[in-house]
Amino acid sequence: MAENSGLFTLDSAQAYLSAEPEMTVESLSGRLHTVSDGTVRTIFVEGDSSVIAFDTFGTPGRARAYRNAIAATVPDKPIASIVYSHDHLDHAGFALDLAPGAQVIADELCARVIKLRGARGQAQPTRVIRGPENTLTVDGVDLVLLNPGPTHGSGNLAAWFAPEKVLFSSDTIIASAKYGFMPDYHFRNLITYLRDFLALEWDRFVPGRYELTDRAGFERGIEFIEAVMTACQQAFVNFVPIWAYEPMKAFCIEQLADRFGDLEGFEDHVGQMAIRIVHHYLMGGWGLEDAETPGVLLAGLVTL
Ligand SMILES: [Zn+2]
Repeated sequence: MAENSGLFTLDSAQAYLSAEPEMTVESLSGRLHTVSDGTVRTIFVEGDSSVIAFDTFGTPGRARAYRNAIAATVPDKPIASIVYSHDHLDHAGFALDLAPGAQVIADELCARVIKLRGARGQAQPTRVIRGPENTLTVDGVDLVLLNPGPTHGSGNLAAWFAPEKVLFSSDTIIASAKYGFMPDYHFRNLITYLRDFLALEWDRFVPGRYELTDRAGFERGIEFIEAVMTACQQAFVNFVPIWAYEPMKAFCIEQLADRFGDLEGFEDHVGQMAIRIVHHYLMGGWGLEDAETPGVLLAGLVTL
């Protein structure tokens, strides 16, 4: 069977695309659940007559494993809605394998990027939302979807569940240092936008990867990114060869190990994190998202 292949072109990628990992589901309330394949994590919510799934996981096999995990948790209700947390294929690339008939809710910028990308398996959003905050009632569930501005990927949406005091924000903060490769983080305003989430009332944070954390863990995650950004600027000041991995890794370990050396994955990931971040200062950002007024992002360039 030929799988939806995203952007892969090799036939031999089928083995990767088909693998169905074991999923671990943890219930956060009677209706709200989080699920992980051991790396990527997301949430799903039980509505009156259907399930609202956030994201899809990153291959057809993973999407099927996600669908099976949902069916095992909520046996009688189909997945009728999918919410994309952002455009990336490793989180939201395979709605056509998860639930091909579902409505797909996404931010307008996410929808534009997906339309242009044309990846195999990534369903085009059918319900496009705009602006920093949208409250939608979907099958009896009040969804509060927040886009404070560009944090990661395109058209990023966080979800706040006030009754559960839960915040979900994919690929922004994790409770470790195990995500060093940060090609599509938007550092210009990242820290400001993430700190703004602390104004909301929540006490559990669901990241897009690895384990859940609390407010203290979330704040520490912000402080870690901020500290690496500071260390990277200091590397320029100290004429460290900022394009070279080993010197940057050594410099950041020297600067940060006292405060953050206990974070899981610190030594293995801080070097590549630094290589990415120095290019924020070197080049001025990854793209339009790092403009000072991100509201103008790609406006009008793609008709939906
Ligand atoms: Zn991502």
